[in-house]
Amino acid sequence: MDRRQFLGRPVSAGLALGGAAALQQAPSAYGQRSDLPPKFTPSAYTVPKSPNSAGLTPDYFTYADNLVIERNQPGKPHQGKVLAAVQAHSDDITLFCAGTVAKLIDEGYTGYLIRLSNDEKAGKTVGYGVVQNEIDNREAAKALGCKKAFSFYYRNHRMDDCAAIEIRQRLIFLFRLLQVNTVFLMDPSDHYDENPDHLVVGREVEAACWMAGTGGGREYPEQLKAGLKPANVREKYYHARAPQGHNLVNRIVDISSYIDQKVRANVANKGKGPAGDNGARLRQSLAKQGKKLPLLGNDDDTANFQYVKHFIMDDFRTLGAQFGLEYAEAFRYIGPEPEHRQIVNKYVEEHAVPL
Ligand SMILES: [Zn+2]
Repeated sequence: MDRRQFLGRPVSAGLALGGAAALQQAPSAYGQRSDLPPKFTPSAYTVPKSPNSAGLTPDYFTYADNLVIERNQPGKPHQGKVLAAVQAHSDDITLFCAGTVAKLIDEGYTGYLIRLSNDEKAGKTVGYGVVQNEIDNREAAKALGCKKAFSFYYRNHRMDDCAAIEIRQRLIFLFRLLQVNTVFLMDPSDHYDENPDHLVVGREVEAACWMAGTGGGREYPEQLKAGLKPANVREKYYHARAPQGHNLVNRIVDISSYIDQKVRANVANKGKGPAGDNGARLRQSLAKQGKKLPLLGNDDDTANFQYVKHFIMDDFRTLGAQFGLEYAEAFRYIGPEPEHRQIVNKYVEEHAVPL
């Protein structure tokens, strides 16, 4: 295992800059900067371990040399753009990306939440999860400001038994229909992810991004005949529990302004995952014992919100603290590649001479 840089390295602690410069690139000589606060000196390698409450493992994150911090951007710079947050299960996007999805929608994106499984393995009784998680998927989408939620209903944890080409084709159809520019997906090259659905979804989203566009040639020409247009997905936010290998984290997003919205999306996720109504359950259980936690307040709604914010979001607070932020999410971000046609056109414009 080659962990080049552990979380806690003073990699970009001094880079949490606000203002118009929403993205700040890390210097290559981390830790050599004299303007870093004392807690980010090289001795800060030994940061306390994350309590790992949400299943995120920031202790295992590795960082790319070109790490950037994405901050709030004023106005609506993403107006007219469309994002698709694609998840295997109803708690994937809410746990790992909800802050960034809410931020980008607030900054102008139109958002869609796409769930591929039927989540049948979750819920209080067998089968209950299918209904509850469909409701959760819709409610979480609403909490994030998404325009619509979709579900494909593939069987939970059996997605690698499905035809990859069918999953991919359905994604290509939706990407074209919605004219998606940007996707959120689980990193299919995370070797430490034990959930087979995550890897299937990551792989097919990745392929669909290319095949839905003009770069993919003439895929599924009948869709184009029916009136759909190619969709060029040019930005990807990969998330993973423990990004490794070549997919190092290269983007930390400051979600401090959107943490309450992220909490509400996770509270909406009642059938699956560690959030939902666990706060109310804990409060009721303590009450039966004649006890209470002041943190959980005096009603179920407050208990649910506080439980998620205090316990489940703690990994994201710990992650943010490494960069001087209140809360953060981590991604492998792949941005627009240069359009060669534009480069050629520009060159022709500048250099073409009469015969
Ligand atoms: Zn999952």
